[in-house]
Amino acid sequence: MSGRGMSDPAPIRNPHRFSDSMSLGDQPASPAFGSTPGRGAVVETAGRASIVGPAAFFERLQQAMATPASSLALLVIDIDGFHAINQAHGFATGDRFLEMVGRRLANRLRGDDLVTRLGGDEFAVLLADVFDSASAVAAARDTLRALDDPFQLNDRPHQVAAHVGMSLCPAHGRDVRSLLYASRSALRSAKEAGIDVVVAQPGAHRDWASSWLLPAVADRHAVVTGREVRDGLLRGEFKVHYQPIHNFGTGRVETLEALVRWRHPTRGLLAPANFLPAAERAGLAHVISVRVLDCACDSLRRWRARGHQQLRVAVNLSAQDFRRDDFAGTVASTLERHALPPSSLELELTEHEQLDDDSAVLQAAELARHGVALTIDDFGVKYSSLRYLHRLPVRALKVDRSFVHDVGRSAASNSIVSAVIGIAGKMGLRLVAEGVEEVRQMNELRRLGCHIMQGFLFSPPVPADAIGGYLDRTAPVM
Ligand code: C2E
Ligand code: MG
Ligand code: MG
Repeated sequence: MSGRGMSDPAPIRNPHRFSDSMSLGDQPASPAFGSTPGRGAVVETAGRASIVGPAAFFERLQQAMATPASSLALLVIDIDGFHAINQAHGFATGDRFLEMVGRRLANRLRGDDLVTRLGGDEFAVLLADVFDSASAVAAARDTLRALDDPFQLNDRPHQVAAHVGMSLCPAHGRDVRSLLYASRSALRSAKEAGIDVVVAQPGAHRDWASSWLLPAVADRHAVVTGREVRDGLLRGEFKVHYQPIHNFGTGRVETLEALVRWRHPTRGLLAPANFLPAAERAGLAHVISVRVLDCACDSLRRWRARGHQQLRVAVNLSAQDFRRDDFAGTVASTLERHALPPSSLELELTEHEQLDDDSAVLQAAELARHGVALTIDDFGVKYSSLRYLHRLPVRALKVDRSFVHDVGRSAASNSIVSAVIGIAGKMGLRLVAEGVEEVRQMNELRRLGCHIMQGFLFSPPVPADAIGGYLDRTAPVM
């Protein structure tokens, strides 16, 4: 294949593919852009780029990145005004419009490029064989010209604009997650600045971690006292971040896990490991739980009002919560205050031996009676897991990320994950895999029969305002 770049004096595109007449370019839908985006089906369009589902796209991206000396660009394209199209013409026309966009992009690209719809109005393009950022920008601009001609929607012409965020491998990252993050950061800049194409900054893939994740562990040895925790609570320094949990069976983000952070005045953003032990010792863990619960329910009510009506939140609890006689009542009244049904809440318990005393079991039963689902978190790491299944009204298990880590690479991890899938299946429980960081893990988990997952591959935990955009624009990676 011939490369793109300085040594490529010919036009980047073959003009015959520019014949973007409505009657040709906007021809019928390809299955990969249907209403269930991303089943991984590959649709070869002779002589043009392939349109694939997101799972296949990321797999092919990963393979391409693993090829020595390969240089490629990842474009994330956001179409302006898609919501207005949906509103003006209805969802069916909106879907058809997105199909046309995908088809036009594919028609414009080369045979060894790839296109996928990530979800919502966001598309990704893999440009193979890119030499430098200047030629990649030229190729990205050229790709956008596919959208120049108006789209015919219900017999009315509709002009759209789009922005592109672009990153290059290896300059901006050597793994899918970093590259995707770098492209999305660049896209944000493009939209903010009103520029058509923005290339990621060098080191942008590190921002992915540093913006939300690294600060939470930067001061990993921070030791705080119970008194400091209390002062922090009084000053309102605790925040809730959210991590999406994807269900590949339904194609939706079905739950957001609420994870507490402390925006410490001098130490930066602290992770729970830095302060929860001190909070527990000082008897403040319950105060944190109640605040996180209230905050998560408040956010959920807003997201549901914005159209994500099936969305749920998962809140982590501490053993202290279950030792309070009024805990089930507190949960019920919080839900009522935010006008949320009990089915919108999941409560996650990690294994604490103390948890199977009688009062804890009573509270758990009371919660289950209210219709709130209980999940056993970090399932498998402690000896008491199976005993919990026996005593508590559990609805879901989260297989611990230590087992997810080596899935597909170690026979032992595969066996453990399969066994947990078997337990969940036999007991009629939902099974969630956490800590999914790589496409390999995602594929292997799906092959083994686990279809609900969360992890950095999809998104790190992010503030509520960032999740709002994620839900609106970024459909599940499937
Ligand atoms: P968890 O409930 O098992 O939460 C998942 C943890 O894994 C989170 O760490 C999350 O940031 C991290 N994580 C998510 N995806 C990945 C991934 O792909 N790779 C890796 N390496 N890690 C990933 P975080 O936020 O530091 O929370 C740690 C633990 O603290 C939580 O584990 C939970 O047990 C506890 N916790 C968090 N928030 C709360 C809270 O509001 N109340 C209580 N009682 N405990 C909480
Ligand atoms: Mg959890
Ligand atoms: Mg966990």
